[in-house]
Amino acid sequence: MITPNTDIRYLKGVGEKRAEYLNVKGIDTVDALLHFYPRAYLDWTDITEISKASFYENCCIKARIVTPIETIEKRSMTLYKFIVEDNSGRMQITLFNQRYLAESLRVDREYLFYGRCQGDFYIRQMSSPIIKEATFMGIEPIYPASKQLSSKALEKLVKTALFATEPIETLPKSVRERNDLADIKTALNNIHFPKTKEGFEKAKKRLVFEELFVLQTGLMLLKEHKRGKTASIIKRDCFAEFEGLLPFSLTSAQKRVINECLSDMKSERPMNRLVQGDVGSGKTAVSAALMYVSAKNGFQSALMAPTEILAEQHFKTISAFFENSGINVALLTGSTTKKQKEIIKNKLLSGEIDVLVGTHAIISDDVTFWNLGLVVTDEQHRFGVSQRGKLSNKAKNPHTLVMSATPIPRTLGLILYGDLDISIIDEYPKGRQKIDTYLVDTSYRTRIYKYIKKFLDEGRQGYIVCPMVEESEESDLTSATEYYENLKNGEFKNYRLGLLHGKMKPREKEKVMRAFSLGEIDLLISTTVIEVGIDVPNAVIMVIENAERFGLSQLHQLRGRIGRGSEKSDCILISDTNAERLNVIKDTSDGFKIADADLELRGPGDFLGSRQHGLPDMKIADLFADRSVLHIAGKEAELLLKTDKKLENEENAGLKAQIKALYTKLNSN
Ligand code: ADP
Ligand code: MG
Repeated sequence: MITPNTDIRYLKGVGEKRAEYLNVKGIDTVDALLHFYPRAYLDWTDITEISKASFYENCCIKARIVTPIETIEKRSMTLYKFIVEDNSGRMQITLFNQRYLAESLRVDREYLFYGRCQGDFYIRQMSSPIIKEATFMGIEPIYPASKQLSSKALEKLVKTALFATEPIETLPKSVRERNDLADIKTALNNIHFPKTKEGFEKAKKRLVFEELFVLQTGLMLLKEHKRGKTASIIKRDCFAEFEGLLPFSLTSAQKRVINECLSDMKSERPMNRLVQGDVGSGKTAVSAALMYVSAKNGFQSALMAPTEILAEQHFKTISAFFENSGINVALLTGSTTKKQKEIIKNKLLSGEIDVLVGTHAIISDDVTFWNLGLVVTDEQHRFGVSQRGKLSNKAKNPHTLVMSATPIPRTLGLILYGDLDISIIDEYPKGRQKIDTYLVDTSYRTRIYKYIKKFLDEGRQGYIVCPMVEESEESDLTSATEYYENLKNGEFKNYRLGLLHGKMKPREKEKVMRAFSLGEIDLLISTTVIEVGIDVPNAVIMVIENAERFGLSQLHQLRGRIGRGSEKSDCILISDTNAERLNVIKDTSDGFKIADADLELRGPGDFLGSRQHGLPDMKIADLFADRSVLHIAGKEAELLLKTDKKLENEENAGLKAQIKALYTKLNSN
């Protein structure tokens, strides 16, 4: 008997060879075939008048043959030509070698012609249209075909599958009723073989919902499952003490986030949280608060940064915060001497060091903690999940905090970081100056150089960002290296210039960055590699060349390098194209709003960079366009898991299976 779980090769009409081709398309079971949706439809009910037929896309025309069918022999080809007519006008039809079809057509009868119009307004014509009797009503599916499997072949297999099996219902009845969703059988029948547009829309609505519901429920289960009990429960909440140590008062957003974290850390379940906050929102202080409380509860903490210079910066900041607190902070990076490293290792084992700040050097196997209770990683996107995991393995389910300055649109964040809880710092420290952003064309360049010099002469620093390193032949993009040479020997020859680009070795990059942060470089010419978390308050001007080349979020990230001190900062975008979207950057400084705009402009695929975040491919849902459904599906998933925590009810077996299938595929990618 064929069930949805049957291997696809046993479906009638498949066999070994075809099974292979289907597997390539990700179809391994009958159920997977049922969820392999048409990529488009040929709608024979959607009739266009000849006079309105588009020259750019296919359409369906209902017209009468008004001339005899003329046969033209042309070398190895036979052409059949005739004129058709509807109320709006006439059109010529040409068929190639289709004798059988040509001979079956009757003059003065009406037919449906599907294809793309060519010619011009006066003489329209259509070559090799698909032709059907005028009485034909229906919408035909068009599947993503391959050389070995035509759309027609796939259509036939789907028909067989729909006929042979009872598809698995994944949505509980209550969920369907509340959201007015079709049952699975109706939905599948209508997505593959819709009879009306309404039927199709209803089917689509249900299947989009289903896909997002499965995704969300799966993520929520993942969140619950992974965590055992932690050995580092916080008993004494001494956060207020820490506040007293700070030279400033925390913003209410910082306080809220700290409390969200602490309430995790007081429970048996280890914290697993992402803190998202725009550049300059004060994430370091948030992590310091948690490290403080951990230390006062007898637990060690580790803070991992992606580069040495960032680790050093954190070490400095945190040491200063903890100066009179009795908390010992140590720094461990690739440059730590062997002797020093031995000392640190011993002190970690004995518990003398409370907080270890470092690069990935701290996850090396020979570093052992006495009692690690909290693991913080900064600028999360630079670390793989496995690296994060490795640090966590140095203790029994320590609390983990991930800090990211990349604003991800809220809806997407929920999914991307599905296994993490999310806190957002949506407020800047008080007294921060707004960065003024200007958009100009290249005719302003000389004036801009003058403007930069004015700042440099006052002892300030600045950045010029260029899109690429080497000039490629076909583009006139300003290359960083050449640009640097030009300025160094010309316009800015009396200033100390630095160059930073992606082709430099990490060590060289760090050297330049360090010199810049020590004030030994006045003006840094750079590609986009400027360290995300770098804090040089004295840098107050940034010029971005070929600004149209950058994504909005990227521009926002770059701009975050300035405006970090008490001085007002300026950002100047240079572009000769009239890129409308650059106005978004000019007009807003809210990273989340910018990310939303970016996402809307570029779509989730580009926004995320394909696959890099390990998001499953959506078959029918669009994470952006369907974000309101995503939201509702999430709420429903939450509700369901309240009553059936592990999906053990019989009614939810289908859902559970679907989740398993989705995440198995995801993990094998
Ligand atoms: P980011 O979130 O980008 O990592 P940082 O933690 O580096 O931001 O903080 C940026 C700057 O703001 C630092 O110099 C930090 O000391 C300062 N800062 C953080 N919180 C506050 C606050 N509540 N009030 C004033 N300054 C703050
Ligand atoms: Mg930071």
